[in-house]
Amino acid sequence: PTMLEVNGLDHRYGTGETAHVAVRDLNFTVEAGSLACIVGPSGCGKSTLLRCIAGLIKPSGGTVSLHGDRVDGVPDDLAVVFQDYSRSLFPWLSVQRNVEFPLRWGSLGKAERRQRAADALEAVGLAGVGGKFPWQLSGGMQQRVSIARALASRPALLLMDEPFASVDAQTRFELEDLLRRVQREQGSTVLLVTHDIDESVYLSDRVLVLSKSPATIVADLEVGLPEE
Ligand code: ADP
Ligand code: ADP
Repeated sequence: PTMLEVNGLDHRYGTGETAHVAVRDLNFTVEAGSLACIVGPSGCGKSTLLRCIAGLIKPSGGTVSLHGDRVDGVPDDLAVVFQDYSRSLFPWLSVQRNVEFPLRWGSLGKAERRQRAADALEAVGLAGVGGKFPWQLSGGMQQRVSIARALASRPALLLMDEPFASVDAQTRFELEDLLRRVQREQGSTVLLVTHDIDESVYLSDRVLVLSKSPATIVADLEVGLPEE
């Protein structure tokens, strides 16, 4: 089944003659349970596209649907992981509390929230660090916490905007492998944007290649990975 459907998406910043067209007539779908990558040069409109999908900006034209429902505003079953982990965690909350935080608005009781967060931390290899504070962790570990927090809410769709661009190469490889494993185990649907074509091919089932600005799709590649 289709999880995400993007139809005729257009976005321009500003109006009139000075308007900047960031995204032009994008059409694609993402299947439930898959990991799809959007790859394109810096400034081509990738973040704009993600922000339109996340309901953070209202597109100038076209529609976005999440499991068949048109997105209008911020959908509650969607999570986003940004590049800048250092600004995405609350410094005054423990790691455990950071991961629990978004669950406050759901229907889970306190004990269930605690368990859900602990499970998510374990899934990213951080069992036992729940009592620490973000500043006590390395950058790579902080980004793992951000991923755990996104996974804990079991979103229908996980959007990731250059999630590994701010960590060193070794950590990036570890986090890529981790994402790939957790995504398969949990059957999550992930849409990740990156400017790194190597990363997109390494990570995903499907690579959508965008042109430089304004972003349009120039290639749609089935990659897949051989089963290990
Ligand atoms: P990418 O994520 O691929 O680097 P962005 O979506 O951030 O690209 O930006 C696409 C284009 O839109 C760029 O030319 C950028 O300068 C422009 N842009 C992004 N955000 C704004 C904004 N808030 N106002 C005006 N122009 C913007
Ligand atoms: P080897 O060929 O000895 O397995 P590599 O240096 O090719 O070693 O890769 C080591 C690890 O680095 C791989 O298992 C993989 O996790 C990661 N890796 C390699 N290439 C990439 C890449 N382009 N993007 C992300 N991770 C990669």
